[in-house]
Amino acid sequence: MKTCEIFKNKTSLSFEVFPPRSDTPIDSIYSTVDELAHLKPDFISVTYGAGGNGSNATIGICEMIKEKHSIEPVAHLACINLTREKVLFELAQMKAAGIENILALRGDVNPNIPPHDDFKYASELIELIKENGDFNVIGACYPETHPEAASGVEDIKHLKEKVDAGCSQLISQLFFDNEDFYAFREKAAIAGIDVPIEAGIMPVTNPKTIARMATLCHARLPKKFLTIMQKYENDPIAMRDAGIAYAVSQIVDLIANDVDGIHLYTMNNPYIASKICEAVQTLFR
Ligand code: FAD
Repeated sequence: MKTCEIFKNKTSLSFEVFPPRSDTPIDSIYSTVDELAHLKPDFISVTYGAGGNGSNATIGICEMIKEKHSIEPVAHLACINLTREKVLFELAQMKAAGIENILALRGDVNPNIPPHDDFKYASELIELIKENGDFNVIGACYPETHPEAASGVEDIKHLKEKVDAGCSQLISQLFFDNEDFYAFREKAAIAGIDVPIEAGIMPVTNPKTIARMATLCHARLPKKFLTIMQKYENDPIAMRDAGIAYAVSQIVDLIANDVDGIHLYTMNNPYIASKICEAVQTLFR
């Protein structure tokens, strides 16, 4: 099933997981997926390359999600370090595995790996995927503007190019102030971007993650968020619960403001995902 169909009937709830590190057996993720599957998300996306296992791990986990749990998987695919031939090989593997949905990404430029010349932007990957199979293609978007973009206007312009190239839905980078998301959604609509946009929500439950996320994703930390986190930084249980409560309050407000869907960055932590789902499950209709 193509995940873009979900939005016609309801506000979607999706999860993101990442493959284990390359020195850890792949099946260490399976019990995590089992627990997440009980929460009945509309789809689960699996990151690409983040743990060093490349696409074999991503495709293997996607197959398990589909076969064992009958939940639609979304395979991430990042092109910056791939040749065109390698992408075509990956697409053939995905097709053989019954994967219908791909989150098409450029990937972050790694200073230690010189990028191939075949792909400069995600829009080029999206075009190639659309020419080579009946895949539903999803794109990434950035409520606070992608850090490398020349300006917010340029970033939205390039986002429209991704949609025109064949994206039928978007998933946003994490953010901690819903007003940033609403402002971005309005600008996207003005630019003629009319595909569903899921809001990316990351429950932040320990101070180390906050610092890492703020640096990696360039996410702005609003005063309200910082006050809560500073108050509980030396009390891990209170910190965890405050992080869950903050994510719940973001989700409630987003749904009240007619968001198309919520994409939960689970960090492979079913406990936190289950607490959040418990609090908001009746809102997804
Ligand atoms: P693009 O859409 O190509 O945009 C990158 C930059 O180029 C932007 O600044 C854009 O404005 C600019 N740009 C685009 N087109 C043009 C043009 N024609 N001319 C000039 N500038 C242009 N990374 C991974 O490695 N693996 C993952 O699994 C992964 N999952 C992710 C999931 C989500 C939901 C998100 C939001 C990000 C994810 N990332 C992942 C990170 C992503 O790869 C990085 O954010 C990357 O820096 C940008 O990828 P993109 O696909 O958005 O790139």
